[in-house]
This record gives sequence, C-alpha cells and structure tokens, in this order.
Amino acid sequence: MRPLAQLPKAHVHAHLDGSYPRRAVLDLARRRGVQVDLPVRPGAAGGPDGWRDVWEFFDAYGRVPALVSDLDDLAGLCEALVEQEAAEGVLYFEPAVEPQLYAPRLGTLRDVTRVVLDALTTAGRRHGVEVGALVTVNTDQDEPVAAQLAALAAEFAGAGVTAFGTAGFVEPSGLERFAACAATARAAGLPVVAHAGQTGGWECVAEAVDVLGATRIAHGVRSVEDPAFVQRLVETGVVLDVAPVSNVALGIVPDLASHPAPQLHAAGVGVTLNADDQLWFGRGVTDQYAVARHVWGLPDTELAALAGNGLRVEGVSAATRQRFGTALAAWLAAP
Ligand SMILES: [Zn+2]
Repeated sequence: MRPLAQLPKAHVHAHLDGSYPRRAVLDLARRRGVQVDLPVRPGAAGGPDGWRDVWEFFDAYGRVPALVSDLDDLAGLCEALVEQEAAEGVLYFEPAVEPQLYAPRLGTLRDVTRVVLDALTTAGRRHGVEVGALVTVNTDQDEPVAAQLAALAAEFAGAGVTAFGTAGFVEPSGLERFAACAATARAAGLPVVAHAGQTGGWECVAEAVDVLGATRIAHGVRSVEDPAFVQRLVETGVVLDVAPVSNVALGIVPDLASHPAPQLHAAGVGVTLNADDQLWFGRGVTDQYAVARHVWGLPDTELAALAGNGLRVEGVSAATRQRFGTALAAWLAAP
C-alpha cells in the first residue's frame, strides 16, 4: 500500500492558531510557566471523545493565542508548524492567518503580519515547503478591522500573502459587509477564499461566490444538497477546501462515512482535503487521506486526483506545480 505521508499535498484550509504542533504549544507554556489545557477531541460532537458543542471548542481555541507573549513566540510556533506540515508530505501550505488575534497586544497588524510571513517563509525554505498565507477576517468579530486587513493583504500580495478570505461558523453571515474588502484583495491579484456551506446551505456558498467573488470555499459541503448548484461549482471551477474530521468533530455531519466529499468529488467538483484545526481535532492532513482510503474506499488513483486538486490553488508557483506533478506521478508509479 502506498504510504499516504508521501503523497504530495497542498494543505490550504488550516487555521494558523488551531494548527500549531501540540508539543510546541506545550513547550511554550512550560517556558512561560503557565498551565494550559489542550484537549484533543476528534470524535463526533457531543460524543465521548468529541466537543460538547462549538462554543466549548471556541473557548479552548482562544487559549493558544493568549499564551503567545511576544513576536518571537509567534515566530517559533509558525516555524514548528511548517516543520510539522513538511513531515506530512505537504509541498504547498497556505494557512489562514488572523493577525488581529495578536495585534495590537504584540504589535501593529503590520508588525504581526510581517513576523508571521517571515517565519513561515524562512521555515518553508528550510523544509522544502512553499508557504503562502490566507489573510482572514472573522465574520462575527472583525468588521472594524476588515478593511485594514484587506489593505494589508494587498500590500503583501506577492510578498507572502497569497489569498484573502473570511471565516466564521454562523451562516448566513452577511457577506456583503465584506464585499469592498474582497474587491480590494482581488484588485491586488489575490483570490478570495470564504468559509461557507458549513452550517449554512448552498445559498451561503452561492453568496460567497456572487458577493465576494470567492473562487475557493472553505468547507462548502452543504452544496451537496442542491444538484443544480453542484453542477454550477463544476462548471465554474470553484474549489471546495473540505475538512472531514473537523466536520464530524463540530457536528456538521454525523460521521465520516456519510461525509459528502466523495459524492462531490465524483460529481466533478474540485475538492481538496484539509485538517482545519489539527491541534484541537488531533488529525493532520495525511489523516484526511486515510479517511478517504479506509472509510470512503477510494483507490489510490482517486487519492492522487484529490491531492492533485491542490494544483488548482492559485498561489502555487510554477516551480512547485512542476515539482508537485512529478511527485504525484512518482507516488502513483511506485508499487
Ligand atoms: Zn476553517
């Protein structure tokens, strides 16, 4: 059986602060002399090894940014994260970055963004991973800083930032409030990536595409409920960056077996597989491919096709595209 860790991957739906390696976070806590509770809950929401509800998850999520005391701490976590991704066979990594979680406490939005981008890029060079950054606005909190973030994303376009987008659990989320920000990013050549179709239906995915001009959707799994809309995704080439374990852990789908990703993939939608928040769900990007192999029963040709959808991500450079394509072919050619 071909090793899944060696399957070349793009990992493009991973929140920076929910993805740092557990060991690096615990080391930081030890250095700071503080106790931090980091429960790992990959199971179904409400179940014995799952989150009680999304609010318990959000409460835990905030503990890690709170632990970061200065920009050196932040850089250290970013570097450890890229090393973790390299070990998972990731050739292109595009974490969702929310500098507003650290600014103004640790510095200005620009200071924080610059430190994160430098740390990610430096570690990427060291570990052979091309790293981008998806500057992300949270739809339930960040309206006042959204314009600033869009301007920053545009400023760093081509210098570490590869996309701009929105995150948020509650849908519909009133995305028209962010239309001007999305336009700023698009004018700078950045693609827009929006969370949608996680708790909201296909209409919310349509809103992200129509109002923000999103070309990729984080989650988007509820698109499956409308066959005509699925066809629209196929025809327009909108990519869904899905996160199967996360969807079970937060109660979006009841179990991995009934996850709609294989159905969407079979219909011709560009689906990528992602971990979302590995620190809290305890499953990395490779584990998502293990789900595809062992739970959905997909053969290696289909696993390679899913991994290959990473080449549809706009930020992937020509050099990485070539390296990725060669590595994919080599993976499939191995016995
Ligand atoms: Zn997400």
